[in-house]
Amino acid sequence: MYITQVGAECAPVAKVGGLGDVIHGLSRALAGQGNQVEVILPRYDCLRSDLIEGLQRAYEDLQVPFYDQWLPCSVESGYVDGIRCFFIDPHSDHGFYRRGRIYGEVDDPGRFAFFCRAVLEFLLNTGKQPDIIHCHDWHAALLPVLRGEVYEALGLDRPRICHTLHNLAHQGVAGEYLLRAVGLDPARLMTSDRLLDGDRPHTANLLKGAIVYADAVTTVSPHHAWEILHTDQGMGLQETLHTHRHKLRGIINGIDEGAWNPRTDPHIVWTYGPEHLPGKAHDKRQLRRQLGLEEAAKPILAIVSRLDRQKGVELMRHAIHYARENGCQMVLLGRASEPWIDELFQELKRHSDGSANCRLILEYDEVLSHRIHAGADIVVIPSLYEPCGLTQLTAMRYGVVPVVRRVGGLADSVFDANYSNKAFEEVNGFLFDDPTPAGLESALRRAIRLWFRYPAYFRQLRLNGMHTDNSWSRPVQEYLDIFAKIRV
Ligand code: ADP
Repeated sequence: MYITQVGAECAPVAKVGGLGDVIHGLSRALAGQGNQVEVILPRYDCLRSDLIEGLQRAYEDLQVPFYDQWLPCSVESGYVDGIRCFFIDPHSDHGFYRRGRIYGEVDDPGRFAFFCRAVLEFLLNTGKQPDIIHCHDWHAALLPVLRGEVYEALGLDRPRICHTLHNLAHQGVAGEYLLRAVGLDPARLMTSDRLLDGDRPHTANLLKGAIVYADAVTTVSPHHAWEILHTDQGMGLQETLHTHRHKLRGIINGIDEGAWNPRTDPHIVWTYGPEHLPGKAHDKRQLRRQLGLEEAAKPILAIVSRLDRQKGVELMRHAIHYARENGCQMVLLGRASEPWIDELFQELKRHSDGSANCRLILEYDEVLSHRIHAGADIVVIPSLYEPCGLTQLTAMRYGVVPVVRRVGGLADSVFDANYSNKAFEEVNGFLFDDPTPAGLESALRRAIRLWFRYPAYFRQLRLNGMHTDNSWSRPVQEYLDIFAKIRV
């Protein structure tokens, strides 16, 4: 199949979080199965172009309608880990992708609405007719709408669209003027069964449009598919999802085993695998040395996460205190998404900077994240909601035992050491339900106690996690099944 991936991120060249990993990993996995795969992204000024092979102009003079103007764009192309990528580069005063960052601009809805129109204009002008356009999150959400309303009639009639929901907290809500900007008719689309955002007049919900217009809709774990239909995790879209539930499916994300493999990881000092765990002990020593933590018979607890409300920042704070009160070392690597969260963690950092047992690094650091996985014993993921979560998957691959809240993909991938009906070889971590300090402690206490008192059992949990297949091999088949069902 000829598959085009469209989204706002692709690791490692444009990554903020898991979305970038998924577009990158899934593209590679699909290509590995013999499919023709390409990725289309905006040409951000902050793109890591040093990681793109053979970057060059692929198309000149693409004219994209926006309001009553035509904005000239060029398109660059190059290879990211063997995957052909195209980068849309508008040359207009808006400077849409020249902001030094991927998201967080007041005109984000306009920036990405334009992107959707530009992608379709590019496909139409170059005569590309992918079998499948796979769109991701709200940034690409107007693409299925534009395909159905405008581009099918213009001749782009082959592609079928699968839209994946990675995070319903961000839906792309904007005034109806935005529809007009990209050539859509608000009078036709602003109804409650199409793009109208709840009962807010003149307000469009772009993600809702994707759910209505896509041929298939997926989210990133089976449990989260259930949650968004049946709980408030649908974030106001439950009714739309219900109407279209026949095309909704949950597929858990995989991890790229090339990028995340303790046997070959170039970022870690000692490589290791389940057959050679002592290597991990060296990495633990190395991590302590790098971060200035004392060498002692203590477990290292880790948090590697965006510091966002969704991730349970209050519970993270509690985990830091609890770990230190219970004879553990704590390492947190994270960047805050809002000023109040940054202030909260800066304060914690000021208190812990001189400590021999606690280190907070409030940055984004890819290499350090690998080293933390290699050196840590326990990873804490207390998310309020978590559509899939990649950190528990990568952590397990590095023999780190996850302590997680039972939500979304965490519930699909972590099986409790004490309270699970899984076979002994399949249990791999600890779960809790209540998003409260007591809830967190109910799982964290068991993990810490196991490390101190029953090292052989703790080691077995590490090995179970390392042996769990969290690669793309199964999920990619599920995507291909869906693609095969919807293609013409
Ligand atoms: P989300 O997409 O919601 O951020 P995921 O768990 O799906 O959460 O993916 C997050 C990815 O980003 C993981 O690979 C995680 O290790 C990585 N990550 C998050 N914060 C940082 C950071 N500060 N430094 C390095 N990597 C990070």
